[in-house]
Amino acid sequence: MSTAPDTTEQDVRETQPTAAEGSYAKTDRTVPTRSKERAHYDRALVHSILDETYLCHMGFVRDGAPVVLPTLYARVGERLYVHGSTGSRPLRMAGQADPGLPVCLTVTHVDGLVLARSAFHHSINYRSAVVHGLAHQVTDPDEKRMALDALVDAVVQGRSADSRPANGKELAATAVLRIDLSEVSAKIRTGGPNDEPEDMGLPHWSGVVPVSRTYGTPIPSDDLDEAIELPAYLHGL
Ligand SMILES: Cc1cc2nc3c(=O)[nH]c(=O)nc-3n(C[C@H](O)[C@H](O)[C@H](O)COP(=O)(O)OP(=O)(O)OC[C@H]3O[C@@H](n4cnc5c(N)ncnc54)[C@H](O)[C@@H]3O)c2cc1C
Repeated sequence: MSTAPDTTEQDVRETQPTAAEGSYAKTDRTVPTRSKERAHYDRALVHSILDETYLCHMGFVRDGAPVVLPTLYARVGERLYVHGSTGSRPLRMAGQADPGLPVCLTVTHVDGLVLARSAFHHSINYRSAVVHGLAHQVTDPDEKRMALDALVDAVVQGRSADSRPANGKELAATAVLRIDLSEVSAKIRTGGPNDEPEDMGLPHWSGVVPVSRTYGTPIPSDDLDEAIELPAYLHGL
């Protein structure tokens, strides 16, 4: 069960280490077996990977077997928050687990398709982060509201202030989990294909196809009051 103190977003930011305070400590489970040179532990780098998106995959063990579920998340200081229905299995399990539900969250950005001359050397340029930790259910109402706002703002920055806050019934139906950022690793691949010298003369195109995320033009709801204009924060997406 969570023993979270009364916590505001400002409290969280002030009591947690900042990016200036260096790196996450390496542990046995945060060092990759392969391509160790691609692993990074710098806080600012990890934060930049985490903050660039809002979708993670959360793994946990259920009935002795691993389950990995996609879910939204938000980073606030040195904490990640995920949320869901109080009926959702991992959220219920975290509420019952003492000292918390062991989870592993991964976040992935695909930056490029690396096409080599040989099938073997095809690869992906990426930035990813893996977070190991215990998920605790947030019971403090202020921390819960703050986390829910952060989750909305993680998807569209500025949106929480431009929508109706959750009412008591909605808050009661929503569970929030907190995972402290402590055992964290990032991994990054950049650059072109690593073809074998003997393959350089082969007649196959090789190189990198960059991949980036784009947003389409917002489509207003059919029943939207015509007097309501597109908010400025959506122009910036
Ligand atoms: C988009 C994408 C596609 C990939 N495709 C492949 C593929 O097809 N085949 C393949 O073998 N690998 C692929 N990888 C790399 C893969 O994620 C692992 O890093 C790799 O399999 C090496 O595993 P390992 O045995 O060293 O990991 P382990 O030794 O099991 O990892 C130990 C610890 O290292 C850290 N770690 C490992 N990998 C990562 C990571 N990617 N990001 C952050 N921390 C990490 C974690 O903390 C992990 O607990 C891909 C990665 C990305 C992001």
